[in-house]
Amino acid sequence: MGEQNSGGGKSKGEKAVKATKKAAVKKAPEVVKKAAAKKVAVKKAAPAKKVAVKPAKAESATALVRRARRINRELAEVYPYAHPELDFTNPFQLVVATVLSAQTTDLRVNQTTPALFAKYPTPEDLAAANPEEVEEILRPTGFFRAKTKSVIGLSKALVEQFGGEVPGKLEDLVKLPGVGRKTAFVVLGNAFGRPGITVDTHFQRLVRRWRWTDETDPDKIEAAIGALFPKSDWTDLSHHVIWHGRRICHARKPACGACPIAPLCPAYGEGETDPEKAQKLLKYEKGGFPGQRLNPPQSYLDAGGKAAPPLGAG
Ligand code: SF4
Repeated sequence: MGEQNSGGGKSKGEKAVKATKKAAVKKAPEVVKKAAAKKVAVKKAAPAKKVAVKPAKAESATALVRRARRINRELAEVYPYAHPELDFTNPFQLVVATVLSAQTTDLRVNQTTPALFAKYPTPEDLAAANPEEVEEILRPTGFFRAKTKSVIGLSKALVEQFGGEVPGKLEDLVKLPGVGRKTAFVVLGNAFGRPGITVDTHFQRLVRRWRWTDETDPDKIEAAIGALFPKSDWTDLSHHVIWHGRRICHARKPACGACPIAPLCPAYGEGETDPEKAQKLLKYEKGGFPGQRLNPPQSYLDAGGKAAPPLGAG
């Protein structure tokens, strides 16, 4: 984590604020009323009722921090059960699943890994595996030859360099084959409880829509957003943003009319604003559908979320 900016780092904070300030808000909205949906409702995402987006003056650094944190608080109420959407029971499973999730959905990975980990439960087992047999198992995840190479190489490195254990440090994790900063932060945040910001495609899209930063390079986004939040919020913040991107604020058709944070969003109106039509765009539990994990945490099930079906079950 040494390379990561801390929430209190002044110079990085100032840079980030400068970047965000530039982007800020030719027409950042004023908050006219509290988001309609304060409830942890899985069945329905409460629609934004009246959203008055007024042109605003440039948003100050302090106002941006306040608005960003408020969005995160609202999202925490909308997704109190947010969690990593890859099934795993130990750091080895998480690092392998994260590598496999490139260019495919978490759902497809979750449907594939039970067979993989049943046959190769440890780094030693996978390091010694016959690549053709692993390829057959990984075929549904796409790019299965390259992924087979990565997970076998990764397992060999774990056995040879780390005694068969996944290391809990950023600088060690990024040395493993197929593991970049994004994967490393997923593993650190979720298997080791170390704060990390996961800058995936959803995260990049949403923070730009919210004008939290106009950076485009993932490392710079990570630093800019890190400066807006205390370090202790980073992992949960990543889950909230990614969950919102998957369920409501989609790339092509954001469901603005069903978005609980619409009053705080400068991009309100980029997607469907009609509440009924927007409701139909919702995905996963917000749209009443199963989630991505075959074994989600109990908190998700308690809130009415449904487990994803195994491979071939629909
Ligand atoms: S763009 Fe629309 S869906 Fe996305 S956060 Fe803003 S209001 Fe919500």
